[in-house]
This record gives sequence, structure tokens and C-alpha cells, in this order.
Amino acid sequence: MSARKVTKIGVLTSGGDAPGMNAAVRAVVRTGIYHGLEVFGIIRGYSGMIDDDIIPMDSRSVANIIQRGGTILKTARCKEFFEHEGRKKAFENLKKKGIDGLVIIGGDGSFRGAQKFSNEFDIPCIGLPGTIDKDIAGTDFTIGFDTAVNTAVDAIDKIRDTADAHDRLFIVEVMGRDAGYIALHSGIATGAENILIPESKTDMEELVHSLTEKEKRKKLVNLVVVAEGDEFGGANEVAAVIKKRIPQADVRVCILGHIQRGGSPTCLDRLIASRMGYHAVECLLTGKHNVMVGIVNNNLYYTPLDNAIKAKQKISEEWLKIVKILAS
Ligand code: ADP
Repeated sequence: MSARKVTKIGVLTSGGDAPGMNAAVRAVVRTGIYHGLEVFGIIRGYSGMIDDDIIPMDSRSVANIIQRGGTILKTARCKEFFEHEGRKKAFENLKKKGIDGLVIIGGDGSFRGAQKFSNEFDIPCIGLPGTIDKDIAGTDFTIGFDTAVNTAVDAIDKIRDTADAHDRLFIVEVMGRDAGYIALHSGIATGAENILIPESKTDMEELVHSLTEKEKRKKLVNLVVVAEGDEFGGANEVAAVIKKRIPQADVRVCILGHIQRGGSPTCLDRLIASRMGYHAVECLLTGKHNVMVGIVNNNLYYTPLDNAIKAKQKISEEWLKIVKILAS
């Protein structure tokens, strides 16, 4: 690996979008310019690298975006980047512009692509964890999680009001195909009776039993929060079983869906995105290769992209215990 001094850097957002990506882009652009680097924005993730959709960024180009959800650079999933030919094309476009360092804001898939690309073409790549799922190891925070979970909490609080008015049982589905963090955090924060997540086995018998018990005790308002990737299925599947087993229950389903991805990022997401974006450029300037910038115990923490890809952040047993005790 080379330790050349970088002079021109590219920044892209890739994979699933997450609120706070704009704040990270802004931090990368302005820190780069502060250090005298030329900074380029790559549009639609790796697709823009392959299609040569690469634009120069100045300080003004990232004005007024710190509070905006989505990503001004757009994001995409790019099939061609899985192939060596696609990555070669991307490299040639970077070479043409003299770009010698990259900041990739995305999830583990994007890091997988970055790792391959960097190994093949010797371009230092720095990853910033941008995902609402929070399932990346090596960081306490991922850009977008706090906003997504607060959106879910706001929506579930509203559902609780109407559930209470009618004594209904609501099964609320939140995002999380492989990770239960949004379900776990939003479920605890809204006092859900049960939380079903992909990381722990769903015991349907136990769920039906606990809901029946609560009904007997006249605890009528019930909220069950389900991650979309729970192994039993999403909210519709869970509701179907409960309706069958507890026919007298007035069961409703609410799937929160994509509202969890949008909206203005929270203060926390803006702060971590700004801090991570700043340090991504520092990494490139100090010759770091292929690391993800994370924050652990309020300190900067660098994880080789390889490890960030392989290891998943684990759900702590303590949280699962808290759910059981507090929902009684
Ligand atoms: P996320 O970054 O949110 O996990 P994806 O898994 O969709 O999102 O990955 C984003 C993009 O990263 C993919 O569309 C692809 O272009 C690139 N990518 C993902 N995995 C690989 C891989 N194994 N090899 C090359 N590129 C990859």
C-alpha cells in the first residue's frame, strides 16, 4: 500500500439512504477544502463513479444542507460495481480527474465494495457508517439511526393514543430486515408489551400467552413492535396468528415503512455525521487506508473495513431482559 499524499478526494453516499448523510457530506467537503484539497461529489454512489457523474464541490455547494434528510449526492445500488470490469471503469474515471482518496458513506454492502476497490486499485477508502439499522460493529452510533428511531417513537406514541381510545391491540412494524435495533429502542421507549426482532427467537406461544394474561388482567392497551425481518414474519403474519388464537381481541396492523428513512436529522445525527466527516478527511491526510471511522465511548475509533464488514453489532442481553421486565 502506498502512503502518497492525497490532493483530490471524492465523497459518495451509497446503498440505503439515512438522515444525516448530508451533514457528513458537508463535513467532508468543508474539511477537505480547509486543508487545501480539491473535493469532488460522486453522484448516485458507485454508479456515478462508473458513469463519470463526478462534480467539483466548493464550500457553497454544501450550504443549507445540514438540516436536510436524504442525500444531495443521491444514492444507488449498483450492480456493475460487483464486477471487476465495472470497478475498473470507475477507477479510470477517478484517475482521469486525479482523485486519489475516497470517503464512502454507507452500510456494510458499500464497505464491501470499497474494500474490493481499494485492494484492486490502491486507492485509500475511508468508510463512514451511514445506516438507519445501527448494525455495524466498531461504533456506538451510525448516521441516521437516531433520527429513524425517533421517527418511529413519534409514530408509535400516536398509535398508542388511538389504541387506548378503542382498547385495541396494535402490531406495529418498523424497519430492520436483518437488525432489530429500531424495534428494540423504539419499543422500549414507547412501552411496548412485546418486541420481536431477528436477533432473538420469537416464541409465538409465549406471546399469545402473555397477551391473554394481560387481557385477563384488563390491561387492554397493547402494542407489539415487530422488526420487518423477524424470523416469524412481519406485522401481518404476527397479527394473523394472534387473531386466530385470541379471536375476541381487536387487532390492527400498522406498517411504518419509509417514513423512518426521511426527515430532518436529529441533533445527535448531525453531530456524529459532522465529527465523522471531519475525521474521514484527517484519516486520508494521515495516510490511513481502508478503515471505518466510528465513535466508541465518545472517542474516535477506527475499524479496518474488513472487520466492519464481518462483525455485526450484537444486541445486548440486558436490553432483552429490560423489555421483559418493563412490559409486565
Ligand atoms: P448498504 O451499503 O446500505 O449495505 P448495499 O448492500 O446495497 O447497501 O451496497 C451498496 C452497493 O455497494 C451495492 O449496490 C454495490 O454497488 C456495492 N457492493 C456491495 N457489496 C459488494 C461486493 N461484495 N462487491 C462489490 N461491490 C459491492
